[in-house]
Amino acid sequence: MAQITAIVENAGQVLTCADDAPDLVGASQHTVVAISGAEIAATGTLAEIAAGHDLSAAERIDAHGGLVMPGFVDCHTHLVFHKSRVEEYAQKVRGRSADEIRAMGIPVGITATARMMREATKEQLVASAAERLEHMLACGTTTVESKSGYGLNTATEIKMLEVNQLLGKRQPIEIVSTFLGAHEFPDDKDRDAYITEIMDEMIPEVARRGLAEFNDVYCDDGYYTVAETRAILQRGLEHGLKIKIHTDAYSHIGGSTLAAEMKAVSADHMNYTDPSEYALLREAGVVCVVMPALDFAVGHTRPFDARAMLDAGVTLALATDMCPGCWLESMPFVVQLACRLYKFSPAEAIRAGTLHAARALKREDRIGSLETGKQADIAVFPYERYEDMAYRLGRGRASLVMKAGNVVFDERV
Ligand SMILES: [Zn+2]
Repeated sequence: MAQITAIVENAGQVLTCADDAPDLVGASQHTVVAISGAEIAATGTLAEIAAGHDLSAAERIDAHGGLVMPGFVDCHTHLVFHKSRVEEYAQKVRGRSADEIRAMGIPVGITATARMMREATKEQLVASAAERLEHMLACGTTTVESKSGYGLNTATEIKMLEVNQLLGKRQPIEIVSTFLGAHEFPDDKDRDAYITEIMDEMIPEVARRGLAEFNDVYCDDGYYTVAETRAILQRGLEHGLKIKIHTDAYSHIGGSTLAAEMKAVSADHMNYTDPSEYALLREAGVVCVVMPALDFAVGHTRPFDARAMLDAGVTLALATDMCPGCWLESMPFVVQLACRLYKFSPAEAIRAGTLHAARALKREDRIGSLETGKQADIAVFPYERYEDMAYRLGRGRASLVMKAGNVVFDERV
């Protein structure tokens, strides 16, 4: 009989987000979550739990009538960067193009962030990313994927991944590290020479030092071709790096078909994905990661068609895409945009930001739902019911967050 170390009780509603939940979120009332160490021991009524477990040493954690759910999993971010690009954003919202903004002397885009990245020390990068992670935690996020890709040379890409490692040790959110050397092309090196550097220097070094779990490529018009993407991802596979793809954001060159062919863990963006590819992605088990806030921040002229993908049975995950072009820490805001602009139901959106996002990081056996044996990553929000997550616009601050059974954020009143 497991020793229960903590019980989260007095919830208005508990969401399990279990895989087989008929309503997608497993909503129930009069439910408590029993925790044993870092894991969830059981969910059920207090009487049910008391019948099968020793509660004598359990800390009682009062949810104050709030919504108790799995911590959000933010499965696509570019969290590590040095300085903002606020001047670029302020001009873009006025309708100016990248070329016009560049002509004004304002640094623009990934290459601008890459220049700033090369000057930054590891400690500066850790400090700025940690500040953003603090906001993410306050919004109920307990796991964050973080990509390199602003280095665009071996030393700086490695530096970014070392920052991911340090962040994982210095604050409570779990960091999932992704190598994205193929994010752009550097402006100081020939295209083929850079691809050779990625394949022959960066990938072996990243794998040897265990600095990343995933290998990601920006496969789109103006970025990496399908053939280049395949070669880079294949080299990563040979070194044990799992596959992610940025694709179909601004064109349709076949990245989604490649994602299905290579059985990528996730394919991300999907604005130009052809409906004929939905079945390929579904059958290959590729999770499609969509990012409403990125479309919002760039004023995308072709929003992704989430409803069509959901209706075709594609597994969708939601993420912030936190980056200098889309400065967003809040998964609740992503849920709000997904529901109002992309026709997700609130239940579909919450599941996409928890269990499906865990699947996009190959962690669905450990996080993303509140089920026996899973890690006790729990967020409590001051809402009576989960639809409030979509309804209360601009809100989304958690009242309590637990990571692996420990209270790591507490603003209960
Ligand atoms: Zn991205």
